[in-house]
Amino acid sequence: MHAFLNEGRAAGGSLPHTHSQLVWLAAPPPVVAAERLGGRRCTVCRILASERAAGSRVVADTGELVAVCPPAGRAPYELLLAPAACEPDAFASGLLDDALALFARAIGDLRSLEGAVPLNAWIHTGSLAARDGHWHLELVPRLTIPAGLELGAGIYVNPLRAEEAAARLRER
Ligand SMILES: [Zn+2]
Ligand SMILES: [Zn+2]
Repeated sequence: MHAFLNEGRAAGGSLPHTHSQLVWLAAPPPVVAAERLGGRRCTVCRILASERAAGSRVVADTGELVAVCPPAGRAPYELLLAPAACEPDAFASGLLDDALALFARAIGDLRSLEGAVPLNAWIHTGSLAARDGHWHLELVPRLTIPAGLELGAGIYVNPLRAEEAAARLRER
């Protein structure tokens, strides 16, 4: 299952009002499968550990939840929000409500910086049966247009450094 939000026409929003969408899939989507190919150590745990140690790209850290602008984000203000502890299933987590509230606050901060930015957001969660993965929320604001380099080569040009994006969101 893939749960996502397309907000604004430029982000593929199909209705004028905010709505999230659910798509049932027979297998984990390829992006989730790729995230789990990080070797023995969980990819999200590895990112959170290095980002918390560095600190400059951390937007919020409640101890239980961490939001960071990943170092190689695809777009300005790309955000990754995950529980600090490795939990596979978002929908069984006692932290989901707090995570969504923190996520909504970050989107509000983004809007106070950049206006009504079209955006895509989704939740990546491990399967109930397999009990694997580390659930997280991802936000990709659509401040740039994926073009030939992005679509053809899979290389994303991001004109805003993650450190600067995180600092701006922290200061809101
Ligand atoms: Zn993990
Ligand atoms: Zn993900």
